Amino acid sequence: MNEEMLKIYETKEKHSGKWKKGGLHGFFRRKSAWLLHIGASGCNGCSIEIVAALSPKYDVERFGILAKGSPRHADILVVEGPVNAKMKERLLAIYQQMPNPKYVIAYGACPISKGVFYDSYNVVGPLDKILPVDVYVPGCPPRPEALINAIVKVMERM
Ligand code: SF4
Repeated sequence: MNEEMLKIYETKEKHSGKWKKGGLHGFFRRKSAWLLHIGASGCNGCSIEIVAALSPKYDVERFGILAKGSPRHADILVVEGPVNAKMKERLLAIYQQMPNPKYVIAYGACPISKGVFYDSYNVVGPLDKILPVDVYVPGCPPRPEALINAIVKVMERM
């Protein structure tokens, strides 16, 4: 996109009252929120709901929401499952590889409060003791619509 087009977008956004703290970069990020889904040793219940949310039934790609396979391409990290000792190091490494600004969604009871694994010997969560969580999605498992709602909440911060 050339300089002139950037100026047009900038002016349009400012005058539409939609200008947010992310400025022009935020504007484009909101149009292409890419996410990385990490299962941190859960039961797969949440995984299935996340995959359902990204399926053609909900068609979130029309809003620019895409699942990516690399942390270097992702704006949003979606974590489900309780964080165990082994996954803690992996999560930190993945988070460090994501470009700034980056956002974290804790999806389900497990990353929020350890859920049904609360007294497991190797669970070191909750997630917000390891990573800065932006949006919490309670449930066991939460519905796909709850993930879409959480992504919209993250977009409002971009
Ligand atoms: S929140 Fe419930 S469904 Fe999701 S990983 Fe934990 S136990 Fe499984």
